[in-house]
Amino acid sequence: MHTGSCLCGRVQYEYDGEIDEISLCHCSQCRKAQGTAFAAVAPVRAERLNFTQGQQCLKAFRATPDKERVFCAECGSPLYSARDDLPEIKRLRLGTLDTPVVASKQYHAFVASKACWFEIKDDLPQHRGLPL
Ligand SMILES: [Zn+2]
Ligand SMILES: [Zn+2]
Repeated sequence: MHTGSCLCGRVQYEYDGEIDEISLCHCSQCRKAQGTAFAAVAPVRAERLNFTQGQQCLKAFRATPDKERVFCAECGSPLYSARDDLPEIKRLRLGTLDTPVVASKQYHAFVASKACWFEIKDDLPQHRGLPL
């Protein structure tokens, strides 16, 4: 069982499943949404992700019509994104996780739009867009 929370602590969640894939997403939307060089994101099963506290604080923003980005309205922590055409998957923002994760699959995504001031210095696979 994984647990996580936002910065102010109002939002708490549990994930009853394995986290075995981590995408380091360099797309411009993730950079702006997170204010960082890239977002560390894990696809998780929507039905196994439970918000145990602070549901009333969750606010969704859509930078594109088909995808919501959900964050804590109180402190601004990004929590997950979800595409309307993939309702069974939520893409959890891993920085909010409070439990350790060792993922077997990890990669950089959308490196074609990465920040010019950030250099990737690890050996993880790099994809120009989404991995195939
Ligand atoms: Zn918060
Ligand atoms: Zn992205």
